[in-house]
Amino acid sequence: MQSARSLIQIVKSVSRRAVAVVVLQVLVAASVSAEETQGTESTKMSTAQKLAGKYGWPYVAGHLGLSRQEIVFPRVRGLRVIKADFHIHTIYSDGQVLPETRVWEAWRDGLDLLVITDHPEYLKLALPQDRDRAYGRALPLSRALGLLLVRGAELTTLSGPSYTEEDSDHVVAFIQDESPFFDDFDTAVRSARDQGAIIIWAHPGPRWARDATRLLELGWLDGIELRNSGQRGGKGIGYHRGEPVFSQVMDWCLEHDLAVIASTDAHWPIDQIVDRARGERRDMTLVLAERRDEKAIREAIKARRTLAYFAEMIWGREEWLRALAESALAFNLTPSIQRNRKRHYLSVANSSSFPFHIKVSSAGEEMTAGHREFRITERGQTVAPIKVNEGETEVRLVITVTNLLSGADRPLVLERSLQVPGEAP
Ligand SMILES: [Zn+2]
Repeated sequence: MQSARSLIQIVKSVSRRAVAVVVLQVLVAASVSAEETQGTESTKMSTAQKLAGKYGWPYVAGHLGLSRQEIVFPRVRGLRVIKADFHIHTIYSDGQVLPETRVWEAWRDGLDLLVITDHPEYLKLALPQDRDRAYGRALPLSRALGLLLVRGAELTTLSGPSYTEEDSDHVVAFIQDESPFFDDFDTAVRSARDQGAIIIWAHPGPRWARDATRLLELGWLDGIELRNSGQRGGKGIGYHRGEPVFSQVMDWCLEHDLAVIASTDAHWPIDQIVDRARGERRDMTLVLAERRDEKAIREAIKARRTLAYFAEMIWGREEWLRALAESALAFNLTPSIQRNRKRHYLSVANSSSFPFHIKVSSAGEEMTAGHREFRITERGQTVAPIKVNEGETEVRLVITVTNLLSGADRPLVLERSLQVPGEAP
C-alpha cells in the first residue's frame, strides 16, 4: 500500500513533469470508466473496447513510402555495430507521441533497437485495452519492420521514501513487467534488477547522486548517459564542439567500468529535436554486439562495448574508437603531381556512414601537411594535400581524429607509415 507521503511525492513528481498530459489522460480514463459504469451487466464493454474488438488494437493506418536511412559501419573486430536509443517517451507517460510513431521514427532513422521508457507513475492512467502499454502497442509494428523493441521504464527517486532534494532518474531496459514499478524507488529498482534489467543513470548531475552511488556500490549500475539530447543546459552540462554534453561522464565510465550511453530522451517528435533537412541524425548508442539480437546486445552492454554517437562525434573507450576507425578508414598517398616539389594527396577512404574529422601531421621531418581539419565524407573518399621532402620514400603520419573522443581533451590519435609513390604518369 502506498503511504500518504509517497503518494504526495508521486503527485509532486508527476506534476513536475507534465500537468497537462496527466489532466488529459485522467479525463480520458474517467470518461472511459464513466461509460463502463453506466452500462448494464450485459453492455459493460466500453465504446473504446468495442472499437478495439471490431478493428483490432492498436489501430494501424497506412503510410506512404516511408524510407529507412541506413547507417552503415563495417564490422569492428568481427562485431556488429548496433544502433540503439535506450531512452524515449510516448503518450503512455509525458511524451507527445504514439508508441507506433516512435517505431516508425526509429526505423526511418536507421536504428536497430528501441527501448521505450515511459514513467511508471502513469501506469494506472493507461487506456483499459492497453494492458501492455507502449510496449504492447508498438510490438506488432516493430516486428513487421524488423526493429528490435525492448521493454523499459524510467524510474525516479522522487517516488519513494528515499527521496531527497538530490533526486536522480534511472532508465531500466530488458525488463519483463512494469507493474511492480508503481511503488517507491527502492522496490522498483530491486524489481527491475530481479527481472534482469540493464540500469542506466539518466541525465546525471554535476556530482554523484546518492542513489546512483548506492546502485554503483551494489554493482547494479550498468551505464550513464554522456549525452541526453533533451538536456540543453543545467547542472553538469558542458559544451564540446558547441554541443551540450555531460562531459565528466566519460571519465566516470572509465573509472567505474560503466557503459557510455547517448539517448534522445525525446518527449516530442524526433523531427522537432533533430534538423534532418540539414543532415543531422538523432543521438544514439552504438553497441558492439556479436549478433543483432536482444541477448547479444544485452551481453555487449554488460561487457561495456558501447559508444555514444551524437552531433558528428563518437565518444567511448579508446580501444573501441581505435578499432572503429581502423575498420572504416583506409589511407593512401597518391602519386606526385609535380616533378620537383613532391606534392601528393593523402587519400582517405571511409567505408562507414560516419564523417570522421581528421588533422594530419608528420611524426618526423619528411613532410608537411598544414593545419587544416578535413571532414572525411561518409561512404566516400576525401583527399588532403601534403608536401613530401625531396628523396623521401616513406612518410610517418600522425592522424588526429578530432571527433572520436575518449574524454573531453582526448581525441583519438592514429599513426600510419605510407610508401611515397613516384610521379603520376
Ligand atoms: Zn526521460
